[in-house]
Amino acid sequence: MSVLDPANTPAAPAVTAEGEAFPSAPRRLHYIDVPAPEPGQSVPIAAGVRWARIPLPLDLNHINVWLIETGDGCIVVDTGMAASIGKDAWENIEREYLSRQPLRGVFVTHIHPDHIGLAKWLQERFGVPVFTSRRTDELALSMWSGRAKAAFNESEQFFRSHGMTDEVQIRAMFRPERFARLTSGMPHVEQFVADEDVLHWGAGEWTALETDGHAEGHLCLSNPALRLLISGDQVLPTISSNISFMFGNGDPNPLGSYLSSLQRLRALAEDTLVLPAHGVPFRGLRHRIDDLTGHHLEQLDKLAALCAEPKLVMDVLPFMFRRELKDLHLFLAIGEALAHLEYLVHAGRVRRELVAGRVTYVAL
Ligand SMILES: [Zn+2]
Repeated sequence: MSVLDPANTPAAPAVTAEGEAFPSAPRRLHYIDVPAPEPGQSVPIAAGVRWARIPLPLDLNHINVWLIETGDGCIVVDTGMAASIGKDAWENIEREYLSRQPLRGVFVTHIHPDHIGLAKWLQERFGVPVFTSRRTDELALSMWSGRAKAAFNESEQFFRSHGMTDEVQIRAMFRPERFARLTSGMPHVEQFVADEDVLHWGAGEWTALETDGHAEGHLCLSNPALRLLISGDQVLPTISSNISFMFGNGDPNPLGSYLSSLQRLRALAEDTLVLPAHGVPFRGLRHRIDDLTGHHLEQLDKLAALCAEPKLVMDVLPFMFRRELKDLHLFLAIGEALAHLEYLVHAGRVRRELVAGRVTYVAL
């Protein structure tokens, strides 16, 4: 059983590369009564849509991918990471399903390696186009062109200005080579998909919804006729997706973007079946959005109160994350805390000041 199965939430990891464990209360969400497919298998989940799982070599041990029938084959949404267990699962899916319904294209929801990681490998193996947002393609190019590596000095300066002094810790947190290791290369994107573009796949019409906050250029896919939402990492049933403010961010207020994206999704039909990238498909989208929003608003109030006295981001971490943080988890936690502090700055509740070269937040 997966650590993300609702029946098993106490064993869920406290933090993952995707975010913080944060399940909704029982009965807020209605999980579908379909057993999760084994790696390399796929099961029907809605008319013309199949659910498959690709294992990940992480504490978050799987990603869900969705196979959408096109009439002459299928399109897959998201891919898994460039790891042998992921490729093995795909080879099984090829034998079990793609031999009958050939792969016609790969749609990538966002830049994170568990989503884009095998896009190039699938593209080459099946000779198919890749679709994603222009921003996701730009981010992938910057990771692959070595520009991210050149950003190390920028990152060091950023973390020092936020009160970190341990160079070893900074180096352990920011490792741009990690992205390259977890992806099979830079896919060639044939078609950029923009907000509200309608993709005609077989008899289905899928509307792309740009939903920023967790990742710039993140796309969900909505099929109103089937009452389906492929939510990527924007809405997950048992995890509060990581929302980070980092050096080099294009978005000055990612938490603001995230919360307004959630409100946009809240307008979808109440009985929409949500197909998340991690965990089990569920109904109860509005409840989940309200729970996630409430969680962030609580954290914001807590931080605003803490900032009655001037605070560095490092000072507020123990209040947001009640455990020891290191390496990637420390990196994600700093990003998440800064996203909240910067939200408060934009809301006029907190002021950002440079005191002796360090970024300090103080309540207004
Ligand atoms: Zn993600």
